[in-house]
Parts: sequence; structure tokens; C-alpha cells
Amino acid sequence: MISGIDYLNKKPVAIEIAGGRIKRISDGTNTEQLILPGLFDLQINGFAGVDFNGPDLTCEDLEKAVIALAKTGITGFMPTIITNSPKAIKDRLAFLRRFQEESKWGSFICGFHLEGPFISPQDGPRGAHPKEHVRKPDWALFQEFQEAAGSGIRIVTVSPEWEGAADFIAKCAASGVKVAIGHTAANTHEIQAAAEAGASLSTHLGNGAHPVLPRHPNYIWDQLAEDRLWLTLIADGFHLPPAVIKVFLEVKKEKAILVSDAVSFAGCKPGVYESLIGGKVELTEEGRLQMVSDPRLLAGSAAALLDTVEFMARTGLSTFEQAWEMASLRPYRFLDEESFGIEEGAPADLVLGRFCDGRFRVQTVIKNGEVIDL
Ligand SMILES: [Zn+2]
Repeated sequence: MISGIDYLNKKPVAIEIAGGRIKRISDGTNTEQLILPGLFDLQINGFAGVDFNGPDLTCEDLEKAVIALAKTGITGFMPTIITNSPKAIKDRLAFLRRFQEESKWGSFICGFHLEGPFISPQDGPRGAHPKEHVRKPDWALFQEFQEAAGSGIRIVTVSPEWEGAADFIAKCAASGVKVAIGHTAANTHEIQAAAEAGASLSTHLGNGAHPVLPRHPNYIWDQLAEDRLWLTLIADGFHLPPAVIKVFLEVKKEKAILVSDAVSFAGCKPGVYESLIGGKVELTEEGRLQMVSDPRLLAGSAAALLDTVEFMARTGLSTFEQAWEMASLRPYRFLDEESFGIEEGAPADLVLGRFCDGRFRVQTVIKNGEVIDL
């Protein structure tokens, strides 16, 4: 039995857990702590010095990353595998799949997000993805990826600018995989055709784009105006100006989701580090991850999902509760999960915590009904 204040309705509740699920919710008396659904990150490349795309990734590394993530209130995440050679992508997916099945921490991995290699080859939209491995959508190759992942790929980010993209998207969607548009230079027609074929998400809209765009039409307006697309955004304080986030939220409303898109330096101390993608990067005291050679260039996000929730609340872009929902319940809703959150029958993936000096402190994390030893 756990007790505390339901973060949404602010009522003290007592929660009975059985078989890893919430069995019953009744009135409680404990007002010492808040109870919240666990955070769920749909896009994360690494954490606490561990790179999920690293060629030498070990189970010990992954356990370390999972524990560090749990300390920030995460009870579920999708390791994100980015553009690479087909062999490297398959190797990474197969390794992560094995960890998911065999480790006691494996249940934190709720599927995989494949970002690439079917993205735009153009500088700007391509971002930091290696050009030599970018390729046009290939259903046979995707099935090989899916086989290596034990059918665990649940989101694939593609650019619909390629010929045949709509056919690829339709096949993915029919197989139950969510298709996201991202790292794209697609035109209005191609974006509409992608949504028509079943694409349902825009990956980190406003990033992975040209530095300068025609005022209209452009692929940001086109995706904003397409009601069938949900949206993920990186609210770390560096990737998007608050005004852009505000407009995105106004347009997409209940279809806006927070992701960290964190790289391995997230959760590390400020300092200068050697990056796998080449060159030195600096993590500043403020949490900005930038290239040492040109500090104007971001080298990825170093924020935990919880940091982005706090950024949203601190800047008044949303309340803390709304931001928490964008980072917990909404990803589940997007994935068509039937039962989630603080309700009877939902998996008991919960966070207990309280505010201390204006910051939210995670005190206890419960995964599948078990209190995690942090
Ligand atoms: Zn990206």
C-alpha cells in the first residue's frame, strides 16, 4: 500500500498494488508526498555517460543508465537508435533487445525508437546523422531491423521526401509501428501524403531543420497544420525558444509530448567531454551542451525529461501538472496503450516525491509494483 496526494486532483489517496498493477484506489490521509505516474521518454539516446548507440555498450553500462534515469522519475523509455550502417543498427537493436529480455532492469525499456536511416540527406534537416548511411525507405531492410529488435521497434522516424515513402509508411503503420516525420525537407504534398498513409507524429518539430526556411510554405507550418500528427518537442531551454513552444502547444494541444532527446552527457557533471560523433563538447553549468570548436552549435540535449518538465513550469508555458502529463500519460496515449496513469488496473509505474526549494525531488520510484532501490 502506498499513500500520498494524487498530483492531479490533489486528494490524499491510498493505492493498493497487486500483481504489478494498481488494484484499488481509496481515500487516504498521507499529505507528506505527491503520487504521480512515472515519466515516459519516447526519444533518448543515452544518459549518465552511457551512449545507447555506442559500439562497446555493456549490460553494466545500461543498468547504470537505467538506475540514473529512474532517479529522475523515469519508469519507461525508448532507447533511440540513430542512422548508421544496417549492420550496426541491427547489432545495437539486438543487444538492447537481449538486455530488455534478460536484465532485471529490462522492463524499463518499452520498445525502441528508430530515428533514421530513412531521413533527409540534406545538410540541416539531417542534423548530426552521418550522411553516408542515410538511405531511402526500404521495407525489406526495415523488416530486418525489426527482426533484430524482436519486433520491438514501436516508432520509426522517416522523411517522406523520398520516392516510395508513402508506401513504406503505410506498411509500417499496418504492422503496428508508429511512423514519425522528422529530419525532413519534405514539401506540403509529401507531408500530407505521409499523414494520409498513416504517419502520426512529428519528431522534435523545429529541430533537425534548415537554419533558414522560406516564410511559407515550409515543413514546419505543414506539420503544424496537419491535425493527424502528434508532436514531440525538446523543452530543454536551448533547442526551442519559449515563443515557439507556446505556439506549438496552442496548435497541437492534447497531441503535444515532451521528449528529452538526451545524449550520453545528460546526467553528467559540467565539463568538457570527448564526443563519439567527433570533437570535444562542453556541458555548461546551465546545462547547455555545445561544441567546443563553435559554442554557438548545440551538440544535443543534456536535459533529463524531468528537467524539461521543470523548464515548462518555470517559464509559465504550462503548469507543472500539465508538463508532467505531457511527459507521462501522453506518450502512453500516443502509443494506444489501454491502461496507464493513476487508475485501477493500470501498471503500477509510479513516482513519489515533493517540492523542495522550488524543485521537484523524486523520493521513491515504483516499477511494476516494486519499489526501486535508488
Ligand atoms: Zn533527431
